[in-house]
Amino acid sequence: MAGAPIVFSRPFRSARELDNLTAVLNSGHVHGDGAFTASAAGRLKALIPSGSVLLTSSGTHALEMMSILLGLGPGDEVIVPSFTFPSAATAVTLVGATPVFVDIDLRTGNIDPQAVAAAITERTRAISVMHYGGVGVDIDPILDIAREAGLQVLEDNAHGLGAKYRGTPLGTVGVLAAQSFHDTKNVHSGEGGALLVNDPSLVERAEIIREKGTNRSRFLRGQVDKYTWVDHGSSYLMNELSASVLDSQLSEFDTIQRLRHQVWDRYATELVDWARNAGATLMHVPEDREHPAHLFYLLMPDGGSRDALLSHLRGLGVIATFHYIPLDSSPAGLTLGRTPYPCDNSHSFSDRLVRLPLWAGMDDESVDRVIDAVTSFGDRG
Ligand SMILES: *Cc1c(COP(=O)(O)O)cnc(C)c1O
Repeated sequence: MAGAPIVFSRPFRSARELDNLTAVLNSGHVHGDGAFTASAAGRLKALIPSGSVLLTSSGTHALEMMSILLGLGPGDEVIVPSFTFPSAATAVTLVGATPVFVDIDLRTGNIDPQAVAAAITERTRAISVMHYGGVGVDIDPILDIAREAGLQVLEDNAHGLGAKYRGTPLGTVGVLAAQSFHDTKNVHSGEGGALLVNDPSLVERAEIIREKGTNRSRFLRGQVDKYTWVDHGSSYLMNELSASVLDSQLSEFDTIQRLRHQVWDRYATELVDWARNAGATLMHVPEDREHPAHLFYLLMPDGGSRDALLSHLRGLGVIATFHYIPLDSSPAGLTLGRTPYPCDNSHSFSDRLVRLPLWAGMDDESVDRVIDAVTSFGDRG
C-alpha cells in the first residue's frame, strides 16, 4: 500500500494564529484575561448562547470548577456515565465526593436516563452527562429526573461545540457546562477549556474560583478597591497566548466544521454496504440531533473482530483507534467510585468500537484510502 501512514487526527491550522501570538508577545500582556480572551469568549458565546463564558486552562479544570462551585464534598455522590473520559470522575474525587457509574445507551454511547434514575440515592447531588461524539444525550428525560429529585445537571460538552439537541445548542442545558480546546478537539488552543455558567447566581463565585480564590475580577472592573483571598479556588485561567490561538481558530469555525462534515459524510454513506455485510453498525445520529463531526465510529460484532479490524487497518497504514475503557472497571474507578448496577452496554460499546481518522482538511485521497482499507476487511481473497 503506497503512501505514508494516515494519522488519526491533526490539529487545525488557522490563518491568524501566528500573527496573534506575535501580537500578544509584543503587547506585554501574556497572562490571562486580555483582549484575545475577551474576543474568544465572545465568539464562544455566539456559538453557545449561555449565561457566561469563562476560558480555562483545560476542559478538566472546567469540570473541577463545577465540583467546587456546587460545594461537593465527602458523602456526596455524582452520577457519571461509565463510558467517558476520566476527568468527569477525577473532578468529583478531587473534592472527596464519589462518582457513581451508570450504563449507557448502545445506540449513542450516551448515559442512559433509566440507569440514571435507578442510581439516585439521598446522597446524589448532580448528574454529569457527556455528549459522545457531540451527539446530544437524551436531555429531556434527564432534566425531568433532575427536577424531580432536586439535582443539578452538569454537561461535559468537550465533543459537542456547535451541536444541537432539538434545536437547542449543547452546553446550554445544564446549570454548568465544560468545553475542551485540547488539540484533538475540533477547535483548539493547544490545551484549554471553558466553563459555561448558565445560572447567573453562580457567575461571581465562578470568577473567584478561577482566580485563585480572590476577587481579582471585581478589582479589575473597579468594583472593589483591593483584591484579597475570599473563597476556595485555584489557578484556572487560560493564558493569553492560548486565547489568541483559540480566537483565530474560532474565527474559522464554519470552515472547520464544513471540512470535518465532508469527511464524516463520506464515511457515513460509503461504508453502509460494507457494514451491512460485516455485521458492523455505523455511528448513529438520531433525527432530532445535529452532530459536530467530532468523530466517526463504528461498532464491530464483538471484541475479537474489532481487534482484527484495528490491526488490519494498521497493516494498511491507517491509524484507527478504540476509545474509553469503562470507568467502573478502571483501577481508580474500582476503589474511588461506586457502581450499583453492571454497565454491560458500556463494556460492549468500548470493546467493539473503532474510530476512523478524521480532521479538518483531510484530503479525498486519504479518505479513499481509509474507506478502501475498511471495506477490504473480511475479503476472502
Ligand atoms: C478532551 C476531553 C476532556 C478533557 O479535556 P482537557 O481539555 O483535555 O482537559 C474531558 N471530557 C471529554 C469527553 C473529552 O473528550
